[in-house]
Amino acid sequence: MDDFKGEIVEISDETPFVKTLKMRMDKKLDFLPGQYVFVVIEGERLLLRPYSIASSPIDEFLELCVAKVEGGVASKYLHERAVGDSLRIRGPLGKFVLCRTENPLIFIAAGSGIAPFRSMIRFALDSGWKNEIHLLFGVRTKADVIFAKEWEDLEKAFPNFHVVITLSREDGPETGYVQTKINRFSHLKDADVYVCGAGNMVQETMDALEKEGFKNIFVERYN
Ligand SMILES: Cc1cc2nc3c(=O)[nH]c(=O)nc-3n(C[C@H](O)[C@H](O)[C@H](O)COP(=O)(O)OP(=O)(O)OC[C@H]3O[C@@H](n4cnc5c(N)ncnc54)[C@H](O)[C@@H]3O)c2cc1C
Repeated sequence: MDDFKGEIVEISDETPFVKTLKMRMDKKLDFLPGQYVFVVIEGERLLLRPYSIASSPIDEFLELCVAKVEGGVASKYLHERAVGDSLRIRGPLGKFVLCRTENPLIFIAAGSGIAPFRSMIRFALDSGWKNEIHLLFGVRTKADVIFAKEWEDLEKAFPNFHVVITLSREDGPETGYVQTKINRFSHLKDADVYVCGAGNMVQETMDALEKEGFKNIFVERYN
């Protein structure tokens, strides 16, 4: 595992609480879609925090998508960075990676848990994978949908890609937590299902998937 320097070339406000930092790396960082890196923050003590890589391995820049956490040290630090600043990055790490398969693919995320799926989905679609790909994404309100425009554009461009956004604190086309929406995939029991998020979401989604009869379940927990 190597240390890298990433110069921030662009910062995007994805939602009121989430920013994407786009970085030009000082050397090539080879990773698999779904892996994460440590951001190393130097202070009185060295602070390391894991962040999923949100860009695809075939993208030119490395992107991290960071949600602001109340009272959080690293997320505050990252939200205060500016274009031109550099970050120390260590990695890549993690076994939560996209596996080549003929099966349908289902990605289930809540909040910033979308980050590794942006990498996986972009990689699969840009590489010409023909699997049916479903994204079930849960956020609080419409304003919290991370990469909203990108999901819309990808859905238009790739007939095998389908997105369902469900809102937990606002009425929308779909309302409720992701774990209550599993039965909409009951015809896809042979799918490889990837789940990522924080809190109870991952466990409750796994329970719902197992109850529904899914066998190929891969998870990443942010807490
Ligand atoms: C493998 C992995 C990948 C990750 N990838 C991402 C990513 O792509 N984007 C991203 O935004 N985060 C990601 N995280 C979470 C991230 O590593 C940090 O935990 C998060 O940014 C909070 O760090 P902090 O230093 O700001 O908060 P801390 O200073 O560590 O914590 C401050 C307070 O916030 C609480 N807290 C910590 N984390 C959370 C949370 N996630 N939600 C709510 N409360 C919390 C703590 O209990 C504490 O009370 C990932 C975590 C893991 C394990």
